[in-house]
Amino acid sequence: MTQHVIVLDAPDDGDGWRRAARALWLAGVRPADVTWSVAGDMATLFASTATPLPPAAAEPGLRRPAVPRECLLLINTVLLHRDPERFALAYQLLIEIGDGRTSMGDRVHPVIARLTLLAQAVRRDIHKMRAFVRFRELTDADGPRFVAWFEPDHHIVRRNAAFFVDRFSSMRWSILTPDLSIHWDGERLTEGPGGSRGAAAGDDPIEDVWKRYYASIFNPSRVKIGAMMKEMPRKYWHNMPETALIPGLIAAAQNRSAGMIATAQAAPRTALVGEGAWAALHAEAMDCKRCHLCGPATQTVFGEGPLDAPLMIVGEQPGDQEDLAGRPFIGPAGAVLDDALRSASIDRAALYMTNAVKHFKFARRGKIRLHQSPTAGEIDVCRWWIDQERQIIRPAMLMALGASAARSLMGRAVAIEANRGVSLQTPDGTPLRVTWHPSSILRLRDDAARTQRFDELVADLQSAAAAATHGD
Ligand code: URA
Repeated sequence: MTQHVIVLDAPDDGDGWRRAARALWLAGVRPADVTWSVAGDMATLFASTATPLPPAAAEPGLRRPAVPRECLLLINTVLLHRDPERFALAYQLLIEIGDGRTSMGDRVHPVIARLTLLAQAVRRDIHKMRAFVRFRELTDADGPRFVAWFEPDHHIVRRNAAFFVDRFSSMRWSILTPDLSIHWDGERLTEGPGGSRGAAAGDDPIEDVWKRYYASIFNPSRVKIGAMMKEMPRKYWHNMPETALIPGLIAAAQNRSAGMIATAQAAPRTALVGEGAWAALHAEAMDCKRCHLCGPATQTVFGEGPLDAPLMIVGEQPGDQEDLAGRPFIGPAGAVLDDALRSASIDRAALYMTNAVKHFKFARRGKIRLHQSPTAGEIDVCRWWIDQERQIIRPAMLMALGASAARSLMGRAVAIEANRGVSLQTPDGTPLRVTWHPSSILRLRDDAARTQRFDELVADLQSAAAAATHGD
């Protein structure tokens, strides 16, 4: 029997595998009579050269029965695994399923069971790359470029490229991995050879943002090293600026936990419940899939601020920059709000800030992600989170910025213009004030109108802060 030698162009050459597998199958070639390899591999150097594909591939009339989609999807994923046997196993599955000897429902079938495990590992790796790539800002001849180093377990870089293009379409970036590098210049994705970690090294402001963010969400009472290592394996730690903080945070955790226990004995019980409950809620929210907005968004943007804040400020939803950074009100609307808070002599650090909707809703126009207002239905679905936040924080006063926030807190439509300056109460009796959303100030073309609305925002913030401290 002829031994067929198939040499694929690259380790993730799914098209090449499919072309060859189809031709071999149509020609009735048994799995045992095929040797699979990849151009440039050591194994290939010692194997005989590629044999031509069997001629049956050229006969358009010759068809085998359709293979179920589930099988094709499994194979599509498995081909990205590093296991050298993946091509042969996938071919064996194709033949057995195609010839009707096995069905995809047979989970204990040794080939299906093994391929299912391989596919799980590939999917995990795809997810890890999305979660653990960290860009550092470097400068090249054309200006800033964000560069990341990542070491995937499997051949998933090309498969993941569209994800990063979609998320970071307006930045120039490169992701370097040992086998392959991919580069986005704002318009085109190109590939290059593997890179080195040193080429992605840098010391930049983005790194500081990650570190600050991580330190702020780190909860000493929830340190579980095993779980942390599982979710964020040590091999990725060196890519991630925030992990430089981990040893110090863990060392401090014991003292802080002891401190928390001692404080709990002396302090009102609600303080401790609040901290643990908030951290648990935050962790849960990071995985929120309550509505379809979680799909296109980069991440959940949860509230932040002291858990005993007397004033809770509620916005509509994160914008483009908040979505990337994972923090509320850090983009253009946040800058207006910061100005207004400064003018009102209110310290932002003393406020709890959150949004009615926790994921960025947008429509893509070329490279730009254009904000879209959430629907009443989306606000209502997301109310679950803000209700939980409110139960933990129990602010003396709520301040809704704009109509979406007011709807979320009141459970019905509230006109901002007509209700500014009015002492309202949410259905559970919490005092509430409503005011302009800072973005509405940015949208005003007329200088005088803009100044007037900004002054109104400042006055409303001032009176809400005073009522939060001294009573409404
Ligand atoms: N607009 C909001 O309502 N919230 C943010 O966090 C940012 C912009």
